[in-house]
Amino acid sequence: MDCIFCRIAGGEIESNILYQDDQVIAFPDINPNAPVHILVVPLKHIESLVDLTASEEPLMGHMRAVANRLARDAGVSQKGYRLVVNCGPEGGQLVPHLHLHLLGGRKMGSLG
Ligand code: 5GP
Ligand code: ZN
Repeated sequence: MDCIFCRIAGGEIESNILYQDDQVIAFPDINPNAPVHILVVPLKHIESLVDLTASEEPLMGHMRAVANRLARDAGVSQKGYRLVVNCGPEGGQLVPHLHLHLLGGRKMGSLG
């Protein structure tokens, strides 16, 4: 599978794994946009948010719960943080494997 996140999830590419369970893996973004920038990635290769089936819907809730927990661990829960899912070319998605960005540790600007 020529997918960078599948290769990280499969242990083929070494990464600083911050969290892992039977559904998701989390690791720091290689090119951080904030002091805390963590990616929460499903182990299953789902290309994008639009490809998420009804039965996979609970996975998004789990990803959000894991992100909240990582935000707490990173100490940004109280000051606040941002969760982002980019979807498709105009949504700014570069890696075609669904992922949730956890951004924190600085004041976020407006979206755009
Ligand atoms: P997207 O634009 O698809 O929402 O975000 C993809 C993110 O993945 C980018 O922020 C980029 O820096 C990150 N990224 C791309 N390749 C790698 C990699 O090999 N390792 C890690 N840790 N992050 C990556
Ligand atoms: Zn993949």
